[in-house]
Amino acid sequence: MMNEDFVLPAFENTRVLNFAESGDRQKMERALADVHSKLGQTYRLEDATIITQRNQNCNPSFNPAQIDQVVGYVEYANLEQSLTALDKVHRYSKTWKKTEAKTRIQLVEKLADILEAKRFELSAWMVFEVGKNWREADADVCEAIDFCRYYARQMLKLSKPHLTQVLSGERDELSYHPKGVGLVIAPWNFPLAILTGMTVASLVSGNATLFKPAEQSSVIGAMLARAIKEAGFPEGSFYFLAGEGEKIGPSLVADERVDVIAFTGSASVGLSIIETAAKKPGAHQRGVKKVIAEMGGKNAVIVDEDADIDEAILGCVHSAFSFQGQKCSALSRLLVHENVYDSFVSRFVEAAKTLRMGPGANPENQLGPVIDSESQTRIEKTIAEAEKRLKLLYKKTDLPTGGHFVPLAIFETQDTKDPIFQNEIFGPVVVIKKIRSLEEGFADVNSVRYALTGGIYSRSPSHIERAKREMEVGNLYINRSITGAVVERHPFGGFKLSGIGSKAGGPDYLYQFLEPRTYSENTVRRGFAGD
Ligand code: NAD
Repeated sequence: MMNEDFVLPAFENTRVLNFAESGDRQKMERALADVHSKLGQTYRLEDATIITQRNQNCNPSFNPAQIDQVVGYVEYANLEQSLTALDKVHRYSKTWKKTEAKTRIQLVEKLADILEAKRFELSAWMVFEVGKNWREADADVCEAIDFCRYYARQMLKLSKPHLTQVLSGERDELSYHPKGVGLVIAPWNFPLAILTGMTVASLVSGNATLFKPAEQSSVIGAMLARAIKEAGFPEGSFYFLAGEGEKIGPSLVADERVDVIAFTGSASVGLSIIETAAKKPGAHQRGVKKVIAEMGGKNAVIVDEDADIDEAILGCVHSAFSFQGQKCSALSRLLVHENVYDSFVSRFVEAAKTLRMGPGANPENQLGPVIDSESQTRIEKTIAEAEKRLKLLYKKTDLPTGGHFVPLAIFETQDTKDPIFQNEIFGPVVVIKKIRSLEEGFADVNSVRYALTGGIYSRSPSHIERAKREMEVGNLYINRSITGAVVERHPFGGFKLSGIGSKAGGPDYLYQFLEPRTYSENTVRRGFAGD
């Protein structure tokens, strides 16, 4: 149980950089040059030490904005190596479980300090490896730091004695204990923030943790592993497990030694993980596996007839197209009231036309590449097929070359069953529908299987209240953009097919990595034996 006098300063969100200031701009330019000089290094499994001998398991990670540029090589675990890694973490879990919460919290605080000290460098890696622009990359680093500091403070609260009742003659206490072994499986789109958030939550709760970055962002995963090691986390408490999800994931998920799985990614993979983890346990499995699965979205914004159109245009353009629409929270369906439809739609399209596309390394570019050739082909095909069925309002044609650049596309439809209205695309594609009433808007919002983010632009308090009650979304944003959740202020996560976890960056998150136990002690002393 935590010593009562151990305290941490109050949580504060990390402030994003202001690249309008020359100091921050110059630091970012230097970081980009510095990281550029480190491209092509090779990182090994476990702790991402740089190695000079590349073996056949080392996979290149390419810059999506310049596909002939290798960002780094990362050693991928094969099935055997991944199970050996699990064994190592499993063995150490018994020690890590007993490590004082204070020690774990201090290590996570140290990790936050390291990430903060390296913030420009980490942003630069993101610009190269996943095609973020400066601001998006910086926000990702800030969120990673926030997750560390926030979960450290949450653990501090949870590790203090929770007296549920003190009656004369009985002492009742609730306490939280690590589950054992954590398996983290992360996506590439918030390559540092989400990987850090899930990993740190598991570690600080006392679970020895294997963490697997997405293939596309393995180098950033390596950067996190190096920072974790530098912070002083003991060997065996963590394991950087790069590798192909499809090859190593199912066996790890099914393994009896795993106690808690934290997954963020697509619904199809998430659902397969939930299914595999729920299989009837073998003879050696200690309990039912806990699965936290944060999955996809098909997010809508309603523009009401009395909306402030200037505000709505800005917020919707940002929500739909920042990071090329590759955020789980991105806007992909716009439901616009018929009374403002024509003026809103024409201005939205004009605003989208002004977005400049090119590599994120150049701060003038607002739109970068999509993550890889698979995404590029999928998005191009989706657009080409939709063009045959729907009215195309705009498609960007003058695309840069050399990277995975796809057109920004805006369609119009009244058919809510159309695949473009129903399915997550994960690219800069928006469909607009005219609505005649708020009821119609709510029904359209709720017509999809996802429930992640949503928004409404309205000046009517009663309409806003109705939106809160009737829009089936995990995070509702009112008269503002629907992306960019901030730790503590906007605990993040959805329901329906968008997820089954408690909100990341919120007060309930850590409970999922812990087992609650209660002690009820008869304190009427009838004489004890001496120790
Ligand atoms: P993905 O599902 O393809 O991959 C996610 C991770 O799962 C990767 O590490 C991958 O290697 C691994 N994986 C793949 N197959 C596996 C298997 N069979 N078993 C175990 N692991 C496996 O997703 P992605 O393309 O990396 O990310 C994009 C998706 O993530 C989108 O659908 C997006 O909406 C979602 N997402 C959701 C949230 C949220 O908070 N709800 C946040 C970010 C991204």
